Amino acid sequence: MRGSITIVGASLAGLRAAETLRRDGFEGAIRLVGDEPHLPYDRPPLSKQLLAGDWDVDRTLLTPPQKLEPLDLDLYLGARATGLDVAARELEVDGVSEPYDGLLIATGARCRILPGTEGMAGVHTLRSLDDSLAIRDALDGGASRLVVVGAGFIGAEVASVAVGRGVAVTMVEALSAPFGRVLGEEMGAVVADVHSAHGVDLRCGVGVAGVSGGPGDLEVELSDGSVVGADLVVVGIGVVPNTDWLEGSGLTLDDGIVCDGTCLAAPHVTAAGDVARWTDPRTGVPLRVEHWDNAVEQGRHAARRLLTTDEEAEAYTPVPWFWSDQYDRKIQLAGHPGPGDEVRVVQGDTAGHRFTAFYGNGGRLTAVLGMNRPRHVMQGKLLLEAGATWDEALEAAAGWG
Ligand code: FAD
Ligand code: NAP
Repeated sequence: MRGSITIVGASLAGLRAAETLRRDGFEGAIRLVGDEPHLPYDRPPLSKQLLAGDWDVDRTLLTPPQKLEPLDLDLYLGARATGLDVAARELEVDGVSEPYDGLLIATGARCRILPGTEGMAGVHTLRSLDDSLAIRDALDGGASRLVVVGAGFIGAEVASVAVGRGVAVTMVEALSAPFGRVLGEEMGAVVADVHSAHGVDLRCGVGVAGVSGGPGDLEVELSDGSVVGADLVVVGIGVVPNTDWLEGSGLTLDDGIVCDGTCLAAPHVTAAGDVARWTDPRTGVPLRVEHWDNAVEQGRHAARRLLTTDEEAEAYTPVPWFWSDQYDRKIQLAGHPGPGDEVRVVQGDTAGHRFTAFYGNGGRLTAVLGMNRPRHVMQGKLLLEAGATWDEALEAAAGWG
């Protein structure tokens, strides 16, 4: 492809896409537009090393400035894409329209807000570098009682860092177990046990009725009528894909940017990362994945898609996986566990918080979960990529030490 490519979203998927374009020989102009003022940085440390105070901000950069330079990018930082006209092939940035030859959208997602807490001092969400530094400041400032709302990734990781800093943590989750929707009830209960073993006061099956007060003197009223005092509240109740600016653009929006199986959203337009919803051609199931590895791989795939013809285009068929660090446990999951799956522990034991579990359905392996078992999860990912049956997977696992 000739001409210029614009990438909207100067973060993980966007930067990996830009690197791929250059690596694959694209010599035209690459414009990287991002609404944050910072050089592209990585988000996983925001709820781990940076929050714990173990890393400084520079270590969160995705690529050091000297490695960015050879990419010869036109960097527009602190610049917001405000509109798109797919038919005219024009992108509007801060109200000014410019043509593009190819466009890759990687605008990610933003945090859901707990109703009634918008802009409330002492109540935080965590998505950006600035969010992480604000929570760290509050912890450095002596906050000793934390309520986390939502026992998903943000809640669980912030809780474990806070416990490590000597803070008393209450974790409130609407479902009956942490990670219930991701891991299912049985394995969610194991995660609950990990947090309880570290002294977290876990309240499952309750919502938040309201929050009142201010920093150092907050009260969180729960739907069961109880009230929990807090110096600081962190809300992690999921995210919403950043597609508002695309209303009326000609793209199909449905909880993300709808793409075909090759990550193409419209002619000359692709999408990647947390914002992209594509249909897995193997299963016909539409997917949107909110994890680091997918942002990297889909960023690369969507970049290459812009350089290929429809005939050459390849389907995007990853086996997604994620990790989450909680206390001294590394939780990893590869694949797609479903609500009716059988779950079987194939190595180790859940009580010791060190094990490997398989998820299966219809005679097939659907997912592999590991707690402090990184090698097994990667071996399991290979089985998933090979489309292993349940029996083949069990046989393979019998040989794992
Ligand atoms: P994002 O990283 O969200 O980047 C999108 C960028 O686009 C942002 O900079 C945004 O401000 C910008 N943008 C939005 N709208 C516009 C616009 N209109 N114009 C210009 N720019 C715009 N995953 C794991 O697998 N393991 C982990 O341990 C892990 N830890 C995480 C910890 C935290 C605190 C968070 C928040 C996420 C974590 N994730 C983890 C998830 C992973 O970081 C995300 O899946 C990944 O960042 C998605 O990358 P992205 O490039 O699609 O979107
Ligand atoms: P999440 O993982 O989707 O978890 C949100 C949790 O909060 C869910 O269990 C949700 O239950 C629950 N919830 C929703 N509304 C609630 C309410 N009103 N009261 C109490 N609980 C409520 O989202 P997140 O933890 O906010 O994470 C945000 C994003 O960051 C995600 O994209 C996530 O993938 C990413 N992230 C990833 C990692 C990692 O991979 N290690 C680490 C940090 C962040 P329901 O399912 O019923 O809504």
